[in-house]
This record gives sequence, C-alpha cells and structure tokens, in this order.
Amino acid sequence: MGKSEISNFKSQIALAIAAHPDDIEFYMAGTLLLLKRAGWEIHYLNLSSGNCGSVQFSAAKTRAIRRREAQSAARLLGALYHPSLTDDLEIFYDDKTLRRLAAIIREVRPTIVLTHSPQDYMDDHTNTSRLAVTAAFARGMPNYRTRPPRPPTQQDVTIYHAMPHGLRDGLRQLITPDAFVNTTSVHATKRAALACHRSQKEWLDVSQGLDSYLKTMDEMSLAVGQMSRRFKQAEGWRRHLHLGFCAEDAEPLRDALRKNDLIIRAHERGLGRKLSRYALTERGRRTGSTG
Ligand SMILES: [Zn+2]
Repeated sequence: MGKSEISNFKSQIALAIAAHPDDIEFYMAGTLLLLKRAGWEIHYLNLSSGNCGSVQFSAAKTRAIRRREAQSAARLLGALYHPSLTDDLEIFYDDKTLRRLAAIIREVRPTIVLTHSPQDYMDDHTNTSRLAVTAAFARGMPNYRTRPPRPPTQQDVTIYHAMPHGLRDGLRQLITPDAFVNTTSVHATKRAALACHRSQKEWLDVSQGLDSYLKTMDEMSLAVGQMSRRFKQAEGWRRHLHLGFCAEDAEPLRDALRKNDLIIRAHERGLGRKLSRYALTERGRRTGSTG
C-alpha cells in the first residue's frame, strides 16, 4: 500500500511545521499531544537542521546531534518524524524550499497545520510561517509541480499560528491568541520532549544558567495559561483566514479537543463581526445599494 493510499483512510492528521529543532516543543507540542490523545496522527517537521546551535561543535557534527535529538523528541511525542530541509538562517521563502515543503504536505495530507506566528522574533520563524501557508495553499493545484512530484490533494486544511517567541512581535507588541489550549495535563511530557534536545541544554547552561531552556518553556506556558485566565499551562493559537484552505467556520481544534481543554475567545467573535461588516459592504458595493 502506497503512502497516499494509507492517507486516504485517515482524515485526522495534524502536521507541525517549525523552524528549528526544539521549536515544536516550545510552542506546539502540548496541542500535538492532546490531538494524539484524541486519536489524531501527528507529524513533526523542522525546516532547519539546527546546525548553528552550538559554540562547541562543527556545523556537521551539530547537525547530526540535533537530528538524533529531534528524532528522540518526536518518538517521545508519538509523532512521525520528517527530516529537515535546510540549515539555520537559510530558511528562505524560495522556490526550491516551497516545492519541497508542498510535496510533504501532499504526502501527509494534513487537515490541521500548526506553524509559527507570521510575526516573530527572527526570520527563520516568519519565513517558515509563510512557507507553510503557501505550501498548504498549493496542495490542490494540478499545475503546481512539487519536488519530488506528488499528485494534488483536495482535503480542507486549517492553519493555526503559534505564539511568537516572547509572546510579542518583532516590534514588541503583545500578541493575543484567539484560542487557548489547556496543556496542563501534558506539560510533563512536553517538557520531557524538550529535554531530548540535550545539546541545547549544554550550551544554554553555559551561556544563560542551569536548565534555562526548560525554564523558558515553563514560563511561557504559565504566561499563556495566565492570559487564558483559566488554565495553569497553555498554548495560544491564531487561526489563519479560511480563504483557500477550509470552510469559514472550520475549527478542527474545537472538534478534536475536550470542551474543558480549549477556549475560543470573544476576540475571535470580534474578528467575525468585522468580517461580516466587510462582506456586507462588499455586497452593497456590487449591488450599488450602500456605500
Ligand atoms: Zn526557533
């Protein structure tokens, strides 16, 4: 049975697309674990090898170490691992990377894509977000050739953007999520997956203090939990506009997760009202009845 045939029998597939080994563990792993618990197949992809994440080893050695660490983390999460496509500071919104990522999306056929915030502290993250969005957009276009070539797929896909690092955009503005996922019950596993990235512990211990990367993740999870005003630890998400991807009201996280593990905020309803007014105005323009 070929890969595409296997995927035909599954509609509940989530693909996390992050920039660096350990980014999924920082921003997305709690939600992946809850989807897994709900019966979803979960996939794990970092676009970069993480080859610059060491002051001690060469790029080649660091690449090899971090690949093994990412594989163990994916195993611990129960996720299917995909090899990275490029290196640190070389994640560009370019033709080659886009065609390779689009091929993976056609193979995996996800109905949820989790990726970085479109605004984030560095361009590896923001470029990953743009690549993920366009690669998902191209899933059904027969004239778009992926590398390697893969047939187009027609499933709906909903894209969720994670919180940026530091919970702020590059101009220091606080980002408010539309959705909060209660990751309290899976926080220990998320932390254990992050701890698989041992090389990061070693060099951040030296530069920033003992277990600083685990502490940073703990603090971020608590801060988002606090923003939710309900959960102890949480991950925050913003859903991408539906156009070109799925139904307007598609909310697969709500459908998949238990009611007390998810909050969709009034902020989201505010977005809805704005869209309705826009739609009304556009309709009005076409019929010439309102300005
Ligand atoms: Zn990163």
